[in-house]
Amino acid sequence: QAKEDGRNTHRFFETDMGTAVSERRELITDLRHAIANSELELYFQPQYSLETNAVTGFEALVRWNHPKRGMVPPMEFIPLAEDTGLIVPLGEWVLNEACRRAASWPEHLRIAVNLSPRQLRGHGFGPVLIGALARSELRADRLELEVTESVLLIESDDILDALHQAKALGVKVSMDDFGTGYSSLSYLRRFPFDKIKIDQSFVRSMAYSDESVSIVKAVIDLAKNLDMTTTAEGVETELLLEMLKDIGCTDAQGYFLGHPMPVSQMDDLLFECQGPITAAAQ
Ligand code: C2E
Ligand code: MG
Ligand code: MG
Ligand code: MG
Repeated sequence: QAKEDGRNTHRFFETDMGTAVSERRELITDLRHAIANSELELYFQPQYSLETNAVTGFEALVRWNHPKRGMVPPMEFIPLAEDTGLIVPLGEWVLNEACRRAASWPEHLRIAVNLSPRQLRGHGFGPVLIGALARSELRADRLELEVTESVLLIESDDILDALHQAKALGVKVSMDDFGTGYSSLSYLRRFPFDKIKIDQSFVRSMAYSDESVSIVKAVIDLAKNLDMTTTAEGVETELLLEMLKDIGCTDAQGYFLGHPMPVSQMDDLLFECQGPITAAAQ
């Protein structure tokens, strides 16, 4: 019965166990096919400086345009890709595509790419990263890698080596979804991040909780002392944006500022970004 409403991905995951298993197998086959046959697409969400109000870059967010199911959101296939190892070729495609696109943007704009822990295991990531930079001719310091705390949760020298190698190339490394993991603070000692991205759940709760405002402010102050910038994720209202400015957050991203968009919708925004940085969006 799941096939009848093929586009309804929620129904699909609620079917009985037997069907769920075979459907999962089918989705894995489809995903393997999708990676090889360019059914994947990157959307880009703008990130803004709260000091200049200008766009500083974009985060690449992968989408799967499934021929029968329609747009499948990453939450539904990234975990599947992680379980099956398909995240390695998928992640390589994302990195290459993101660098290729960003290379055509104004020089001051950065591109942020999400990484799963499994992409950093073993010794495969270094060559993939070097290859993506070389092919696209993107300046290394225009690339940011976003990793979550779960990456550092795995006690692995491979992973730390891979991140250090990226830093040595000049690539930036950000901690994504800060505050959602287990013992965030200890991870800040284990790797010299350039940026902390404050999770949307914290940002959103600032609207009704003074405690949340205090926590976010403490994170921002901590980051400053450690020489890191802070990006607030999930900024959906002007009120939140003003609150974040008041407590010294350096950058922001969210629906209030701009939704993730396909390349075909980026022209106007990229055109605005061409002028002198300080003149933009004031
Ligand atoms: P993330 O890296 O934390 O990305 C932010 C997510 O929040 C994106 O969801 C974005 O569309 C959404 N978002 C942005 N602003 C707002 C807002 O104001 N309100 C709300 N409610 N949501 C907002 P998306 O695109 O569905 O991606 C979900 C997650 O999937 C990402 O979380 C990331 O962990 C993962 N992901 C996406 N693309 C990739 C990829 O290429 N590789 C890997 N490994 N993971 C990816
Ligand atoms: Mg991210
Ligand atoms: Mg995030
Ligand atoms: Mg997230």
